[in-house]
Amino acid sequence: MTKRPGRWALQRPEWQSVRHGVLERDGWKCRQCGSRRRLEVHHTKPVRDFPEEAFNPDLCLTLCAPCHTIETNRELGRVPDPKRQAWRKAVAELATTKPKHEKEMKCLIQ
Ligand SMILES: [Zn+2]
Repeated sequence: MTKRPGRWALQRPEWQSVRHGVLERDGWKCRQCGSRRRLEVHHTKPVRDFPEEAFNPDLCLTLCAPCHTIETNRELGRVPDPKRQAWRKAVAELATTKPKHEKEMKCLIQ
């Protein structure tokens, strides 16, 4: 995908205040999984098809980046590639797991 539909709307100053309002309303949490990281605001009606609704907070949802991707793919009728999903999950787990190097080093010394 080279061009994101509805991008014009996201560059408008109105969007910043709508976006902030939606994040506030949803308590700065993903409505799908409750995550507070990498939050984005999703349009439940695609801006491409409903440009007049682009700044309607009632049609916006707070989602984290991974949930947003899943939701967008679902909307576009794409089935996520399970291999890719598994890879993403593994990377996400790696990013959240603390390195075990210290423990492993001690084992080596003993
Ligand atoms: Zn989420």
